[in-house]
Amino acid sequence: EQSDSADPITERLLRGMPPPPPSSDSKDGRGRVLVLGGCRELPGAIRLSAEAAMRVGAGKLQIAVCRDVAVPLGLLVPEAMVVGLQQTEAGGISRSNADEVSKRAERCDAVLLGPGMSEDAETRAIVAAVLRASGTTSLVLDAGALCVLSDEPGLTKGLATPAVITPHTGEMAGLLGRQRETIEADPLAAAREATERFGTLTVMKGGATYIVAPNGGAWCYEGGHVGLATSGSGDTLAGLIVGLLARGADPVTAAVWGVYCHGEAGRRLARRHGGIGFLAREIPTEIPSILAEIL
Ligand code: AMP
Ligand code: MG
Repeated sequence: EQSDSADPITERLLRGMPPPPPSSDSKDGRGRVLVLGGCRELPGAIRLSAEAAMRVGAGKLQIAVCRDVAVPLGLLVPEAMVVGLQQTEAGGISRSNADEVSKRAERCDAVLLGPGMSEDAETRAIVAAVLRASGTTSLVLDAGALCVLSDEPGLTKGLATPAVITPHTGEMAGLLGRQRETIEADPLAAAREATERFGTLTVMKGGATYIVAPNGGAWCYEGGHVGLATSGSGDTLAGLIVGLLARGADPVTAAVWGVYCHGEAGRRLARRHGGIGFLAREIPTEIPSILAEIL
């Protein structure tokens, strides 16, 4: 029996599938991104995603967070328009925002749900509402937003553009109801199963990262650096992917480019700083030169 395989993600592969060139005339033309997430305990994760989305060339950025976090975050990410949402006692985003967030999402080209978001019923209600209302907007689900799929695996099916999910092994174990060890033993199989069950473009993160598309196409990236196993690293990857989607890339292109650029940023930072100890917030700064060199 032949074992399953995935195409390696190389610079050559990337050059054969470039993201659409930026339209020269306006920031709207380079794509509008909305990032929804954050809570009182994790107020900064969203900054990492937001910055990554801008560094990969998205034109305009909106951030939607609970009210407590809105002003400090706006000062931390002066490029963004920040929307302060009703919050729960616990400091998460309240479900009463579901309609407003869904409408905002539809006015953007690409939306990232989940960085720093609490995993609770309120979150699930909002994420479900955005998914149900989704028309042509491209969606990325990460971190706190992923739990909605364990309850309602059909929510991501039948979207105009397949949603991208970016779980690490622990999150994938939760999504599929399996042990983490099972996922680690065969991450490609887990990615295939998730794609089948949820109809998503699945990015199964780890030391090696596997991407599986709804049509069965599969890619693998093993070129990153162990220093990327650091707090907030995944938030930057999700930001790169949503930024590329906003620029008009299809989900496969956005995922393949995002994963490669994230890994390459890790290698460059490791080279400069000596292995581990670089910070997730330093990843986005590396991106423009990486893009310029490949393209
Ligand atoms: P998260 O756990 O959500 O912060 O995501 C971690 C990110 O770091 C993912 O993009 C992983 O693919 C990457 N990563 C984790 N461990 C390693 C490793 N040992 N080598 C290279 N990349 C890694
Ligand atoms: Mg993460």
